[in-house]
Amino acid sequence: MKKISIIIPTYNEEESLPFLYEKLNEIMAKMTNYDFEILFVNDGSKDRTIELIKSFREKDERYNYVDFARNFGQEVAMAAGIDYATGDCAIFMDADLQDPPDLIPEMVKHWEEGYDDVYARRRKRDGESFLKRFTSKMYYKVLQKITRVEIQKDTGNYRLIDRRCINALKQMRESERCLKSMFSWIGYKKKEVLFDRPPRVAGKTKWNYLKLIDLAIDGITSFTTSPLKIATYLAIPTFIVLGMYVIYIIAKCIVTHTFVQAFQAIILLILFFSGIQILLLGIVGEYLGRIFKETKNRPLYLVNEYNGIKEMNSVKN
Ligand code: UDP
Ligand code: MG
Repeated sequence: MKKISIIIPTYNEEESLPFLYEKLNEIMAKMTNYDFEILFVNDGSKDRTIELIKSFREKDERYNYVDFARNFGQEVAMAAGIDYATGDCAIFMDADLQDPPDLIPEMVKHWEEGYDDVYARRRKRDGESFLKRFTSKMYYKVLQKITRVEIQKDTGNYRLIDRRCINALKQMRESERCLKSMFSWIGYKKKEVLFDRPPRVAGKTKWNYLKLIDLAIDGITSFTTSPLKIATYLAIPTFIVLGMYVIYIIAKCIVTHTFVQAFQAIILLILFFSGIQILLLGIVGEYLGRIFKETKNRPLYLVNEYNGIKEMNSVKN
């Protein structure tokens, strides 16, 4: 039997977990020709989340958990899910039932048809403020403009990916993470399923605007170093203006039989040196960007325990 891993990052979700547990059991009972592995990644919750998860596991061995040493954020929690998942495919899902588990049979069906990455696209966004809808729309637009790979619109992290996508993502150890763009980067055969995103079942959203802005900047900087190219781009027009001014002054001196005047010389010097400065800054920026890409040697996360066994966190990834 094929095994489906369901990866669920959880942070202070004691209120929604009982609902989720019911729903997952319901789905698993329906899909009897598959093995299941529910993999909770407890992202340093401060409430009773981990106790609840442990109680699920006591009742049902299909429930597994990775317990983080502290809060590392949802993106990293999902990375841990990728590392620990043992299934033939994996489904990412939020703990608050905003990603309705009822969609799983349809996703699995498409997976069986041969798709590697079945992602759920929202038809409309209930329970979200106008501001959040607007900003997320603008963000997609900007991200799409500055990155060359195609990014799926109105798509959260709710998706099913094949084992080979899991293995591909496992190798991507960068610390500025944006899974959404990583899914795009790996490519493979994608399939869209539509769904209505309901409001969260209980508890409060774990995101605030500051966190969202952070995520947005990570999304851009982890994908491209193009902001660093601004300096290079600025240097080019500076040199063009300089060149034209030099020609103009020389021509003028020849025609009027005069010497270069002091103020003209000053302008020339300023243009010349600022041009060089900006250019050098751009070059430094390019190298900085490359160094920045390379210096990602820290472990992404530290695990307290996995299914009740203390993790020593010796290098294994
Ligand atoms: N989450 C997490 N770590 C965090 C913040 C959130 O693991 O630091 C989890 C959270 O428990 C939930 C999912 O990520 O399962 C999505 O969070 P939330 O529902 O608060 O985000 P929203 O749906 O409002 O975008
Ligand atoms: Mg949510």
